[in-house]
Amino acid sequence: MSLQPQVAVIGGGYAGFSAAVTLARGGARVTLFESSRTLGGRARVVDKNDYAVDNGQHILLGAYAETLRMLRLVGVKPGVLETRRLALVYPGLEPPCELRAAPLPAPLHLAIGLLRAKGLGWGDKLAMARLMRRLKRDRFRVEPDRPVAALLKETAQTAKLSRLIWEPLCVAALNTPVATASAQVFANVLRDSLAAGASASDLLLPKVDLSELFPVPASRWLAMRGHTVRTAEPIKTIERIEGGYRLDGDPWNTCFDHVVIATAPYHVAALLESFPAMAGLVEQIGQLKHEPIVTAWLAFDGPLNFPEPMIGLNGGYGQWAFDRSVLDGLEGLVGVVISASGAHQEISKDALEIALREELQAALGPLPALKWAQIITEKRATFACTPGLRRPGTVTPEAGLWLAGDYVASDYPATIESAVQSGVIAGRSILKRCGLKEQLFR
Ligand SMILES: Cc1cc2nc3c(=O)[nH]c(=O)nc-3n(C[C@H](O)[C@H](O)[C@H](O)COP(=O)(O)OP(=O)(O)OC[C@H]3O[C@@H](n4cnc5c(N)ncnc54)[C@H](O)[C@@H]3O)c2cc1C
Repeated sequence: MSLQPQVAVIGGGYAGFSAAVTLARGGARVTLFESSRTLGGRARVVDKNDYAVDNGQHILLGAYAETLRMLRLVGVKPGVLETRRLALVYPGLEPPCELRAAPLPAPLHLAIGLLRAKGLGWGDKLAMARLMRRLKRDRFRVEPDRPVAALLKETAQTAKLSRLIWEPLCVAALNTPVATASAQVFANVLRDSLAAGASASDLLLPKVDLSELFPVPASRWLAMRGHTVRTAEPIKTIERIEGGYRLDGDPWNTCFDHVVIATAPYHVAALLESFPAMAGLVEQIGQLKHEPIVTAWLAFDGPLNFPEPMIGLNGGYGQWAFDRSVLDGLEGLVGVVISASGAHQEISKDALEIALREELQAALGPLPALKWAQIITEKRATFACTPGLRRPGTVTPEAGLWLAGDYVASDYPATIESAVQSGVIAGRSILKRCGLKEQLFR
């Protein structure tokens, strides 16, 4: 192996770029291959009607420590994220429901926020405190793992609290309905957000598109240091050759010492076809089920009356609505998110658009005229985060092949943070194998 290991990263999403930056900081020579012309994978910009919208509205949390570190590393300014204290606000309900974290250190931010919450009765507030106390008592371990719905029942959560707080939080974080979502992974998310330092539960809303938030600056950062990022360069498969690996699709036929496979789980199998020893791993990855996310972009001919950049919708199809005018100045642009499978899949896009407009009107009052609407469905947005799921690790049976991606084993569901963490772990594992370390100032 050369002194400077040659490493290929397949996939230009958040995991691939986190691996590439980590490897570059440790002195490896990195080539990243991305099949699409656009960087970012499942968190990317899409051009629609002269607007640059995202393939799906994303929320980051203050708890996303590795993502925030990566953004800093590649020179992204903190101002690209609109930071808001946690506020779950349902303006359309009678009476309106509001739970806002108080501007106090943890755990008072949540305790006082809960005491002051509007639209929730004492029974709801006590039930919420009961669930958080129970999780803390058990050190956020849920053994055996079971559906979130079972945990809610055992801790006697009220119907209102489940409907307005737990079910929307669970489906937003795990992209899996409470009936089938892992209580352990949900507990991990609550541990690191609501039950951690006050800023961990902050909502971080990107003010730039998702490609521009990290993949594009990371690509620039790599290029400045002499590494290579190839877009529109799909890799068909990986082959073992004398002294390393060759990628079918690499125009230079490079011999790589290591390869990080940082694709979505459903793209891994084709890459590993020529490795019989990987059959078990491929089968394990193939068993992951997936859940969709729908984002409806609605562009109105004027501003809307949002009390917060993000509001909850309840009782219809929409789950959360986002006022993009606060974020990127696109006046009148609204994103409505529907996570996981549900009744919305049974109606046409036109019917969904009409229903979502009615839901927005019920929450915000009369709406300006609609200029255009674009409904984007990501059918396999994330894996279904079910109880006791066996997720593959970074290391594979083939010494030079490594996995990264939001589906790789971690405490978190499929999120930007789990993707970034997996990339960092893959990068550091390779550096360690090569006897290298990340340099602080590289
Ligand atoms: C609509 C939507 C909303 C979401 N909302 C949130 C949210 O609010 N908060 C949050 O934290 N997370 C959210 N997520 C999840 C988050 O986007 C993903 O977890 C994360 O982007 C996954 O990153 P990744 O790098 O693991 O995979 P990907 O983003 O899938 O990246 C893999 C890349 O590999 C490329 N590729 C595949 N095969 C090949 C090949 N053979 N050769 C070369 N390149 C290849 C793909 O084109 C892709 O760019 C959302 C996801 C979706 C879809």
